[in-house]
Amino acid sequence: MMGFETAKSERSARTGFGSFGLDRHAEWRDDPAKLASLALQADARFAVCAGDTPILRKSGDVQGAWHTQVEATALGEERERVFLGTQGDAPRFGVLIDKALADPASVGTLKERPDLFVTDLRSIAVQGLVPPAELAPLGAAKALLDWHARHRFCAVCGAGTQPKSGGWKRACTGCSAEHFPRTDPVVIMLAVRDDKCLMARQSRFPANMYSCLAGFVEPGETFEDAVRRETWEEAGIRAGKVKFLASQPWPFPSSIMIGCIAEALNDDIVLDKVELEQGRWFTREEAILMLRRQHPDGLTAPVKIAIANTLLWAWAMEGELP
Ligand SMILES: [Zn+2]
Repeated sequence: MMGFETAKSERSARTGFGSFGLDRHAEWRDDPAKLASLALQADARFAVCAGDTPILRKSGDVQGAWHTQVEATALGEERERVFLGTQGDAPRFGVLIDKALADPASVGTLKERPDLFVTDLRSIAVQGLVPPAELAPLGAAKALLDWHARHRFCAVCGAGTQPKSGGWKRACTGCSAEHFPRTDPVVIMLAVRDDKCLMARQSRFPANMYSCLAGFVEPGETFEDAVRRETWEEAGIRAGKVKFLASQPWPFPSSIMIGCIAEALNDDIVLDKVELEQGRWFTREEAILMLRRQHPDGLTAPVKIAIANTLLWAWAMEGELP
C-alpha cells in the first residue's frame, strides 16, 4: 500500500487504533457481486460485534478478533455487514449481530461459551486482549457497525434507510438522501508553559490518573480555535500558539482525536468543576515519573494506547514545544 511504511513511523500510528493496516479497496464497495465473492474466499475473516460489544475468538489464553465465515454465521443472525478491506489478499469484514447475545442477563448468551471472549472494546484496548494489528480494524468495525445501528431512519424525512456501498453509506427509501458514516472531531491538548504542563482529572478516571484537556470541535471552529476555547473554558488558561502532533481514531462511539501541544499564556488555573475534579501544573520531571509509573505520590499518566500518553511523551521525553 502506497505510503504505508511512512505512515507506520508516524506518532499517530503508534496510538491504539492508529494503525488500520488494511487496504480499503473503496473501488470495490459498489460492486455487490465482488463483495459477495470476497466473503466466500477461504481466507476471508469477520470481526463480529453484538451491539457495540466485540465477540472475540478464544483459544487457551489467546484472543483474536477474526472469525471464519462459518464461525461468524454460527454466532447469530447477521444484522449488518461492512467491507473493511483486505489484509494482503485476505478480505476483512465487520458483522453486527443482536446486542442481546452479549448481554449476561439474557439466556444463551455468547458469554457462556469457552471458545469466545466477550468484553467491551475499551477493555480490549487497555488490556491488550487482541494482537496490536487487530485492534484498529476491530475498532473501525465497531464504530461503523454502531453507526448503522443508530442510523436506521433518515434524518431528513424519517423514512427507513438501507445500507449501500459495502456499508460505507446508507440511502433513504423515502427521499433518496444519502447518509455517510460520521467521525466526530475532538481536540485533545497538552498546554505547556516554561517547564511545566497542565493536566487534569475527571471523577470517572482511575484514581490518581491525570490527563490532557479535551473537547469536541464546534461548527465554525478551526482545530486551533477549539484548543484555545477548551483550554480557556475548562481551566481558565489562555492559549497562544497551537501545534498539531498526532491524531487517533477513537471509536467511543466514533471520534477522531486531534492531538496538539499549546502554548499557555497564564498560570492561574480556574477549573470548570462540572467537567473536572482536579487540575494542576506538572513539572517535566514529574511528567516523566508519571509516564514511568514511578511518581512518589502514585500519580499516573494515561495508558500507552491513549493519545494523551503520546502527547505527554512527545513533550516530556522528546522535547516537543508549541
Ligand atoms: Zn429521507
